[in-house]
Amino acid sequence: MGIKDKDLNQMKIYRKNISLKLSDLEKKEDVKAYLRLTKMLKEADSAYDNLVYSSKLDEYDSCEHLIVLFDDDYDWYEGRHNYKYGCLKCGLNTYTFDNNYNFSIVDKANNEYMRRCHCEWLDGTYVYNNTYYDTYNKFLRAKELYSLFRSKDTLISDEMILKMIEETINKEKEKLKNKEYVVYNN
Ligand SMILES: [Zn+2]
Repeated sequence: MGIKDKDLNQMKIYRKNISLKLSDLEKKEDVKAYLRLTKMLKEADSAYDNLVYSSKLDEYDSCEHLIVLFDDDYDWYEGRHNYKYGCLKCGLNTYTFDNNYNFSIVDKANNEYMRRCHCEWLDGTYVYNNTYYDTYNKFLRAKELYSLFRSKDTLISDEMILKMIEETINKEKEKLKNKEYVVYNN
């Protein structure tokens, strides 16, 4: 018997011992309950995801979109913009659709919706008042702020909210700059 065969044999016995111990454990009432609950939790997670997914699709469908423009990785070297579009109300956007790597359940709904509707309207044509943010993160922050301001006042106009968003983002930018200045000077 070669060394590898011996190792294989030992590993086989080792694995069998572990699985025997596991089956013994699985006969205990506590462990049975644990396994049952784990399975239920997994099912509940998946049902929850399905609900989030379909309610997101409904939201995209019923939203009166407020489309803005933002940049995805401005190429300083080439001086080239890579424009993307998104809605500040429901979050539907072309960034998630074009960058197929981050898959939360909301991302999946976004991409599925974009695939289904072909969304010709989600392009430069419908950008509200030339609203522009220079990064994807600023778009996300603007969306967050839109929800915040809208939840505080349902009657205020979109135009007003956009101004408030701009002010807030500028203030945050200033704050960050001052912080960097302090760090640099210490
Ligand atoms: Zn929308």
